[in-house]
Amino acid sequence: MLRLTLFLLFLFSIHPAEAAVINGIRVGQHPDKIRVVIDIHGDTDFQAKVADNPRRLLISLPATADNITSKAILAYPFRSVSENSIGQGITELRLPMESPYIIRNAFMIAGNGGAGNRLVLDLFAVSQIEFTRQTGIAHGPLVIAMSAPSIDGLLKGIAGETDIAVPPQKPTVYTKPVIVIDAGHGGKDPGAISPRGIKEKDITLSMAKTIARVLNESGRYDARLTRSEDRYIKLYNRVKIAQRAKAGLFISIHADSVGNKTTKGASVYTLSNKASDVQTAKLAARENRADLIGGIDLNIEDEDVSAILIDLSMRETMNRSKILANSVIVDLRGGGVQTLKGPHRYAGFAVLKAPDIPSILMETGFVSNENEARTLLNPEHQEKIGRALLRSIDRFYDK
Ligand code: ZN
Repeated sequence: MLRLTLFLLFLFSIHPAEAAVINGIRVGQHPDKIRVVIDIHGDTDFQAKVADNPRRLLISLPATADNITSKAILAYPFRSVSENSIGQGITELRLPMESPYIIRNAFMIAGNGGAGNRLVLDLFAVSQIEFTRQTGIAHGPLVIAMSAPSIDGLLKGIAGETDIAVPPQKPTVYTKPVIVIDAGHGGKDPGAISPRGIKEKDITLSMAKTIARVLNESGRYDARLTRSEDRYIKLYNRVKIAQRAKAGLFISIHADSVGNKTTKGASVYTLSNKASDVQTAKLAARENRADLIGGIDLNIEDEDVSAILIDLSMRETMNRSKILANSVIVDLRGGGVQTLKGPHRYAGFAVLKAPDIPSILMETGFVSNENEARTLLNPEHQEKIGRALLRSIDRFYDK
C-alpha cells in the first residue's frame, strides 16, 4: 500500500505543462568570482545549493536536459557536469568542485517570450569551514517537496526487488534577502548643512533607521545599517560591509544641497561612468569627497573598479539598479513624496560601485532648504519614504 501511494504521489507530481529544456552550461572566471550560466528554453524555477562529501554544486530545474554534458564549457573549479533525473520531472545538474566555492547570487535573466532564459549563479571562493556552513542552503524559488525515487528505483520497488528508500530530507532553508541601508556621511564628515545648522549626517542616520525598521517589520527582509551611530566610515568600507553581509541590495541615503534655498524634492541615482548632467557630476564629486577627507586615494579604488566596469556582471547589476531606481521614483510619488524633475539620474558615486550588488543612492530631499531639512527629520515623513522603498523592493523581489 505504501508503495502504491508513493507511486501515485509520483504520478500526480509530474508537471503536465510543457517542460523547459536546459540547453547548455558555461562557467566563466572573473576577477572576483566564478560565474555559472545555464541556458534554458522555456520558463522554469530553479534551486541551487552546494553540498559536501564530495564537494559539489547542485542545480535542480523542472526541465529536461538536452545532453548538456557533451556541450558544457567548464572552467576551474569545475571539471565535469552530469545530468540526473531526480523524479518529479526535475533534472539535477551535478558539478564536482575542486576547491570550496559558495553561491552568493542566483538569479534568472528572462529572454524574449520565455525563450533564451539564463540562470546565473555567482560563486565565491571560501574556506572549507565557511563552505561546510553553507552546504544545503537553497537558493532559488523551486521547492522540492520530497526526495523522489528515480523511475528505475520506483519500478524496482514495485517489482518487489527492493524497498523504496526515501533518504531523509534536510529542511530547505530560505534566507531573507539582506538589504543594506547606508546612512550617508557621519562622524567628522557632516555632509551638507542647512542654513540653520541641520546636518545631513543626522538626517541620513535617522532616515536610515526608520527605513530599516519598516523593511524589517514587513518580515520579508533582513535590513541592516552600515552605521547606527554618528560614526565616520570610508565609502569603500560601506561597499565592503554590503558585500560581507551578502546583501541583495544596497541603498545609500543622502540629502542634497544647492544654492537655491527653495529647491526641494527627492531624487534617485544609479552608477554610470558619465554623469547625466553637470549638476549631477558636481553632486557626485561632493558625495565622493568624504573619502578624500578620510585620507584614502579614491583614484586607486577607481582603477580597481574600472576593470570591473566593463564586466558583464557590472552591466547586469547596473541594469537591475536602474530598474529599482525607476520603481522607487514611482513609489515615492505614489506615496506622496515630492520628487525632482527627471528624478532618476546617473553619476559616478564611489559608494555605488559594488560590482555584484544592485545599488542606488537616494537624495531624500534638500538640506539647503530649511523647511525640507526639518521635514526630512520628521518620523512620519521618514515612514512614507520607508514604505515607498518597501513597495519597490517587494516588486524587485516579485513579492
Ligand atoms: Zn550626502
